[in-house]
Amino acid sequence: MTLSRAATKLRSHLEHLKEEGVREIEASPERVAALRRRLKGLKTAPAVAAPVRREADLDVVAGLAKIAAEIAVCKKCRLCESRTNTVPGQGNTRPEIMFIGEGPGADEDAQGLAFVGRAGQLLTQIIEAMGFTRDEVFIGNVVKCRPPDNRAPMPDEMAACLPYLERQIALLKPKVIVALGATAVKGLFNDPKVQITKIRGRWMKYSGIDTMPTLHPAYLLRNPPAKRDVWEDMKTVLAHLGRPIPSKRN
Ligand code: SF4
Repeated sequence: MTLSRAATKLRSHLEHLKEEGVREIEASPERVAALRRRLKGLKTAPAVAAPVRREADLDVVAGLAKIAAEIAVCKKCRLCESRTNTVPGQGNTRPEIMFIGEGPGADEDAQGLAFVGRAGQLLTQIIEAMGFTRDEVFIGNVVKCRPPDNRAPMPDEMAACLPYLERQIALLKPKVIVALGATAVKGLFNDPKVQITKIRGRWMKYSGIDTMPTLHPAYLLRNPPAKRDVWEDMKTVLAHLGRPIPSKRN
């Protein structure tokens, strides 16, 4: 089976489910990983839909799957040469918050999922301290392929990849974006001079969406006292969303 035929079959199956009244789809990271293994046999690289949960917006699901399929075969920048898996991002199809990091690391490249390594575990703690689960937000990156040797993505790589993220944001319509780390902010705003410690905690606008720049979880692993700053930023996000602010950080 070809990738395009698989995408057609997926869309037809989703439309059938919609006609049957299905309004919710769940796909755990494990099931997505199993799907990825099955798709390995296709004639082109695998297309992996982001795991989704919550009320049904099958057009968003299909749109995300289409973008993931394009990413899976993308060769628009040199990062395609060393990747194991593409990492389109995953999460809720109608998230209040979309977290955006710079790019996949080794664990993410191996699993095809965003923020699943040590920094990802810390991000999960932050998300849960805010009163959300990972399934209730969307987590992605500026670039969808791992830069070799864990280097930061280069400006031309981020520029090449950004249209995918912009299409994802247009589909997901998050109320708030949280940009994780200097590189993510540089990529989003095409500003190589960003100093994250100077701009963190202050609202910016990306594609018309309120965007909070904050420190990257990997930085927090090296600098635990900086968790306080991130928590202040996340409290600002919660207040902006009209959400209760937990009195204590996890
Ligand atoms: S990083 Fe983005 S632009 Fe570069 S090859 Fe991967 S998907 Fe394509």
